[in-house]
Amino acid sequence: MPQKISMFALSWKSDTDSLAEYRPRIGALISALGSALLFPFIILQALQGRWGLAALFAATAIMLLVNVWAVNKRHKPFIPFAPVVAGLTLAVCISVWVQGHNGVLWSYPVLFIGFFILARRLANLIGLALILGVSFATWQSIGVSLASRVATTLFLNFVMINLVLNVLDHLYEALTRQALLDPLTGAYNRRQFQKRLNAAWAASQQGAFLLVFDIDHFKRINDAYGHDVGDDVLRAIVELTQSVKRPEDELFRLGGEEFALLLPKATPELALQIGEAVRRRVESDPLIPHRDSAVTVSIGVAGKQIAEGADRWYKQADLALYAAKRKGRNRVVYFDLLNEVRDVEPASPSIEGAERTKVA
Ligand code: GH3
Ligand code: MG
Ligand code: MG
Repeated sequence: MPQKISMFALSWKSDTDSLAEYRPRIGALISALGSALLFPFIILQALQGRWGLAALFAATAIMLLVNVWAVNKRHKPFIPFAPVVAGLTLAVCISVWVQGHNGVLWSYPVLFIGFFILARRLANLIGLALILGVSFATWQSIGVSLASRVATTLFLNFVMINLVLNVLDHLYEALTRQALLDPLTGAYNRRQFQKRLNAAWAASQQGAFLLVFDIDHFKRINDAYGHDVGDDVLRAIVELTQSVKRPEDELFRLGGEEFALLLPKATPELALQIGEAVRRRVESDPLIPHRDSAVTVSIGVAGKQIAEGADRWYKQADLALYAAKRKGRNRVVYFDLLNEVRDVEPASPSIEGAERTKVA
């Protein structure tokens, strides 16, 4: 998950980027608006016989329109937005140097544009360059009094834009969390499971494995110690599983006391080893102090290659889980369609508790 972002920092380096998805469309809108606004200036320069400037403006307008077309066709912009914003920044600095006051006005929208069409770090860099360049050009062309005011007001805008974007990123992250995560345990939720399982199924990569596990006799824990202790156990089991799984494996809470672990790439031996590691980790942890028996989980494992679809794949892991329950719980069962042991006899002591059983 993205890191927590600070609401008041300048967010120099944040993982959350709430505008990322909208940026091409904002860029296209601003490009369309820019080319329309250039039109009167092209006419004006042409009427005054400044053909060079008229041609330059016309070329810029055409380039912006090509970018609009490219974004609408879902291509990359013809000219990336970074050089466009850098060019606008340079143009504003030159304009202030040459025209004085009139040019200063353009620096404010250009500062804003950068933040809405570039990634934040780049926008911050170009924004700071704009503040320095425009302030210096104002000092040279008009004087220090206006230059100091321009620097201060531009910097205030710069800070305010960052604050607004931080709030936006903060809200975006909260929304993403709510959409993806189970609020009790922090594991991914069932909706996300369905999405990730379908994606793993559709991916060309082979060797994905699904582990489905369920806490044994969880109802007894609730009955004996109360719902709150039950909740603590659910949270603790997620933590224990997170500590055992590999970084690339994804953990989901499917509902109640049932979880899934999706391994994007593994072998049957490795999938069994990971399942067995989870089982042992849970069993060996004193989750409920002073309780005679340990809290345990039963685990079903199924590989993608033998299933016929994402739903069937899940069903197979679930069948293996129920086989584990039937066989006495606190064990790992591998779904093996053909009841072949093949080359996956549990060889290492770490998977001796795991079983390969025909459960179809
Ligand atoms: P088995 O070994 O066959 O899985 O038995 P079990 O008791 O674990 O299974 P059963 O389906 O009978 O009971 C599951 C219990 O999980 C019942 C329900 O009250 C409890 N449960 C479901 N969601 C939550 C939750 O969010 N918090 C708590 N504390 N309990 C929950
Ligand atoms: Mg259970
Ligand atoms: Mg259950």
